[in-house]
Amino acid sequence: MKKSIVKRIAIIVTGLSVCCCLNGCNNNNNGINNAFGNNSNDETESASRDVFAMDTYMTVTAYGKGCETAVDEAIDEINRIDELLSVSNEDSEVYILNESGSEIVSDDTKKLIEASLDLYEKSAGAYDITIYPLMVKWGFTTGSYKVPSKDELSTLLKNVDAGKIEFDKESGFVSLPNGMQIDLGAIAKGYTSQRIMQIYENNGIDCGLVSLGGNIQAYGKKYDDSLWKIAIENPKDTADYIGVIQVEDKAVITSGGYERFFEEDGEVYHHIIDPKTGYPAKSGLSSVTIVSDDGMYADGLSTTLFVMGKEEAVKLWKQSEYDFEMVLVTDEGDIYITDGLKDSFSSEYEYEVIE
Ligand code: ADP
Ligand code: MG
Repeated sequence: MKKSIVKRIAIIVTGLSVCCCLNGCNNNNNGINNAFGNNSNDETESASRDVFAMDTYMTVTAYGKGCETAVDEAIDEINRIDELLSVSNEDSEVYILNESGSEIVSDDTKKLIEASLDLYEKSAGAYDITIYPLMVKWGFTTGSYKVPSKDELSTLLKNVDAGKIEFDKESGFVSLPNGMQIDLGAIAKGYTSQRIMQIYENNGIDCGLVSLGGNIQAYGKKYDDSLWKIAIENPKDTADYIGVIQVEDKAVITSGGYERFFEEDGEVYHHIIDPKTGYPAKSGLSSVTIVSDDGMYADGLSTTLFVMGKEEAVKLWKQSEYDFEMVLVTDEGDIYITDGLKDSFSSEYEYEVIE
């Protein structure tokens, strides 16, 4: 990674783990101030709340009339979806499905399973929600990490194949073969931020921003009519960022091996698993950031393309009907952006544009 511009603007970024909104919003409420900047001259009504859910810190912010209600409803929605999809909460729909093997699921879970099966197909199995037993074995669900033996992995891999899920998208009936269990963790936060955009719209607020564990989704432009500035973390040094994307009405969602990992005998093992090997994906990418109108697909795709690697990611970007742009950072620190971000991405590092 080479810096192409020597001049560096000093911007203090705190609080968010993956992407940050820089000098973004007028906010007079709480902790989001540091990360999102502040403009004390403006009288715009604003509301912001933090919550810990889905195993991560989240901040939701809204501006304009109705912002308090919008933020309250957003928090309720986060908690509702968390309760529905949690793999560990015994009352959750996913927990019950994993235990019982079959269930008629709610509309939310139905949508997520449908999107997941679509991603599974388009990625030739790189994205696979039946990865859950492997997440457990590696200790990513509990924090009691350990490197499983080859035998343990190959036994568990026999039950990893989303193509074997029986699913009726009309009725919502889902049936899993014996021993199969699912985890919607790769798509849940993006789905949630997408739902919050709907809540913001329903409440008629001016604009807003959510950060769900660093996954960002922006509603409209900033209250001062400028674009939101979202920083993308440097996978090698999370105090630094590799560039800034300016957006309006977009999700900006990053997956990276540096987000959750443990080390053993000098090896780093992270939480995004290659369903072909059972080991953490080693595709040559350190991070994948997806920019899209659709938070759910942005989240699903960021995990998918991280597993697939640069070449396959570019193929999918060129060929599939998914409408998205991306920023890729390789293990060597090379940065690639797709054509559609040419005017909205800026960086002090050299980068290549994929056309
Ligand atoms: P994060 O949720 O940490 O921001 P991701 O969106 O990339 O990051 O999701 C990672 C999560 O996705 C893992 O914690 C696990 O629950 C799940 N997962 C891991 N590997 C895969 C995979 N190959 N396909 C689908 N889901 C996966
Ligand atoms: Mg994801």
